[in-house]
Amino acid sequence: MTPALMADLTTILGEERCLTAPEDRMAYSYDMFARGLPDLVVLPENTQEVSSVLAMAGQYRIPVTPRGAGTSLTGGPVPVKGGMVMAMTRMNRILEISVTDRLVRTQPGVVTADLQARVAARGLCYPPNPTSADYCTIGGNIATNAGGASGVKYGVIADYILGLTVVLADGRILKTGGSCIKSVSGFDFKRAFCGSEGLLGVITEACLRLIPAPAVPRTNLVYFSTMETAADAVAAIIENGLTPSTMELMDDRFLAAVSRVYGLTFSDDAKAALLVEFDDGPDRWPDQEKRLKSACSRAIHLKSARTDQDRAQLWQARKGGTAALVRNAGFLQTLDFAVPVSCIARGIRGLQEIASDHELEMVLIAHAGDGNLHPMFIYDPNDPLQKQAFASAEKQMCRFVLSISGTLSGEHGIGIEKSGYLDDELSPVEISLGRELKQLLDPAGILNPGKCGW
Ligand SMILES: Cc1cc2nc3c(=O)[nH]c(=O)nc-3n(C[C@H](O)[C@H](O)[C@H](O)COP(=O)(O)OP(=O)(O)OC[C@H]3O[C@@H](n4cnc5c(N)ncnc54)[C@H](O)[C@@H]3O)c2cc1C
Repeated sequence: MTPALMADLTTILGEERCLTAPEDRMAYSYDMFARGLPDLVVLPENTQEVSSVLAMAGQYRIPVTPRGAGTSLTGGPVPVKGGMVMAMTRMNRILEISVTDRLVRTQPGVVTADLQARVAARGLCYPPNPTSADYCTIGGNIATNAGGASGVKYGVIADYILGLTVVLADGRILKTGGSCIKSVSGFDFKRAFCGSEGLLGVITEACLRLIPAPAVPRTNLVYFSTMETAADAVAAIIENGLTPSTMELMDDRFLAAVSRVYGLTFSDDAKAALLVEFDDGPDRWPDQEKRLKSACSRAIHLKSARTDQDRAQLWQARKGGTAALVRNAGFLQTLDFAVPVSCIARGIRGLQEIASDHELEMVLIAHAGDGNLHPMFIYDPNDPLQKQAFASAEKQMCRFVLSISGTLSGEHGIGIEKSGYLDDELSPVEISLGRELKQLLDPAGILNPGKCGW
């Protein structure tokens, strides 16, 4: 960081929004997977400032890593090549909620749960619901095409983007899409930026589609004696034509951690539990529960939440489980794969076998309704043997998942974590088109360098 660069930056943002103190840089240097110290942290407050900073970073050839809340599990917002972290958290205003047009216009630094609550207060619903919604930001969600617990019925964030404002690496401001539910004018650039992990531009505004608020959900917890029978039930529920709004699978190790930390009790003999929620209204519950029981014929026990408190506890189990696991662990690594729903049981069996061959203890949770599997591992990355066992297991898992028509990432993105494997999934034509797109939009390679293998 030269004095000339610092002088230019402070002219744009003022000294108080250009952070250089070691403790500030440290605070923006990590996610749950990786670490890398930035030389500087900038805190823009509007699109024009983002544009001026990027134009200047291009002139000085300084890497810029956009960052939302840093809840990534893949190293995505970590500045592995130094330079600046551009933290979007000051751009945290909801600009408009329209009940008639069923949309919300928002800055990227708004926390997802805050946006959900604000639109709910107007009788509307923003369905994408990452488990990290209480902390992550809309900008980070768009940059990773976040999914979550409601994906089985409502899809992912890409399904809700009407328009985006994106600042390109050279400072140009691109407005793409708009406020219309339908538009086929020109190429659909929104999709290119959704899931681009901060490599193609910085998202500074989004217009998102909303839906009318669904009915208060009915939550059921179904216990099984094995993960495989639970996985078979997931497929049976879908085949049965049921439309759950959530189908979350948790194994017994996950539930045990939740019990230990939050004092919740679960069925003792269960090896797996499926959280199944329906939000079509109370008149549908009797039929849905009857069909759910029939699809889960090998379940050992089914419990329905009778009160709001019951439901809140079941969600505390699902949402707080990861924190419960890390409480007594130095390091937890969560992997993210997705497979077709018809392959879930096979996928789980394969992952379990690979973990056991490597003597690794695996905890498994899944957004099972859309085939999104999250094996988690607690190990010591400073122990060379454990580190090597994990690396070998991860490699085998990637190959295995691809061999059953799965994908390397359902929602967390590639980041640093899976950058070595992307060539195994994408075709040579996709790889070269991706590189050409990156070269076109960011010829100097300043945006989030060192990620995704591009
Ligand atoms: C306990 C836990 C549960 C989780 N559950 C889910 C889940 O259910 N579903 C899911 O999809 N993910 C989940 N995640 C992963 C993570 O929360 C998501 O990837 C989330 O979308 C990241 O948002 P963020 O604001 O924290 O972004 P960050 O982690 O800060 O950044 C993520 C990526 O987006 C880029 N980025 C951020 N903001 C912008 C911007 N404005 N413009 C351009 N690029 C930008 C960054 O450079 C980085 O590559 C979970 C994580 C944790 C810790």
